[in-house]
Amino acid sequence: MIISMKLHASREEIDAVCRQVQSFGYKVHSIEGEERVVIGVVGLGDVTACMESVEALPQVEKVVRISAPYKFVSREFRAGRTRVRVNGTEIGGEQFVVIAGPCSVESEKQIMQAAEGVAKAGAKLLRGGAFKPRTSPYDFQGMEVEGLKLLEKAKKATGLAIITEVMSDRDVDLIVEYADVMQVGARNMQNFMLLKALGRCGRPVLLKRGMSSTMKELLMSAEYVVAHGNPDVILCERGIRTFETQTRNTCDIAAIPALNELTHLPVILDPSHATGKRSLVPALARAGVAIGADGLMVEVHPAPEKAISDGAQSLDLAQFERMMQELEPYIQLWQHSRKQGVLATAG
Ligand code: PEP
Ligand code: MN
Repeated sequence: MIISMKLHASREEIDAVCRQVQSFGYKVHSIEGEERVVIGVVGLGDVTACMESVEALPQVEKVVRISAPYKFVSREFRAGRTRVRVNGTEIGGEQFVVIAGPCSVESEKQIMQAAEGVAKAGAKLLRGGAFKPRTSPYDFQGMEVEGLKLLEKAKKATGLAIITEVMSDRDVDLIVEYADVMQVGARNMQNFMLLKALGRCGRPVLLKRGMSSTMKELLMSAEYVVAHGNPDVILCERGIRTFETQTRNTCDIAAIPALNELTHLPVILDPSHATGKRSLVPALARAGVAIGADGLMVEVHPAPEKAISDGAQSLDLAQFERMMQELEPYIQLWQHSRKQGVLATAG
């Protein structure tokens, strides 16, 4: 943190600021110019509280934070990239991982058909919400425990790992019994009680970007999970809310290389929620591979026209299989560059 004093601040005023900073456990190094004094602050402590208290002092002109507010998830913290292991699959490593399945678990027939179809086409994880965050309280809220049991059945039949959404810290103990990856939805990205509970859950977490959240806020939420004991966090770009209405959300494709510059955590793309339209999903999926995402999460339904949620953005099984085939040459290029250690970013 750097504190710039007001012009011609007196010795007493400068000393008062230094004492304030030291009371938070920090060390100070001041640089004294002809007219202005700048105080450098180093050490470990409650940065936010210290900054706020110093900003409140009348003799202080400006306080600037230098280091990233997230520590464990920042690239400086780890030289290599985090690889998250899920049932023999590694996300963030040398494999491009596709997660696929319906928005919601709706019936045994639906989830079994979806699981078999996506496994055949090359997906490694099966998605499906059993607890659904719906905008309207009158919409389908998910099959809950029954849905989790159906996911377990689909896992047994296909060998696919399971990813499913957890909406509340109270459901964590139940959902860890069924899920290989705990999904935090966009609407819950800043549910801090949930994030803390997931820090202790012993399963990898897929953290979706909130629809009005900055990348920094996404990283701060990931920091919650890691700081509470769980290093296995996967980030997911799923589009953000803008003035554009042609697509359901606006896909912030640049977030993928930008996050790769800031964090060692894997970053995947959800082209389904990012567009809301099945016709746009394959093109965006290609862009995700090309830009260096670690994988994709795609909504796939055996009969999208009958889906209870998100049918318009869901591919049917044949469309998913075609998309996977069309992605193949792009994935080969992706693998080639990964082997050479090339990341999405120049840095
Ligand atoms: C979902 O994955 O079905 C979902 C609800 O996504 P999001 O949280 O990104 O809206
Ligand atoms: Mn959905």
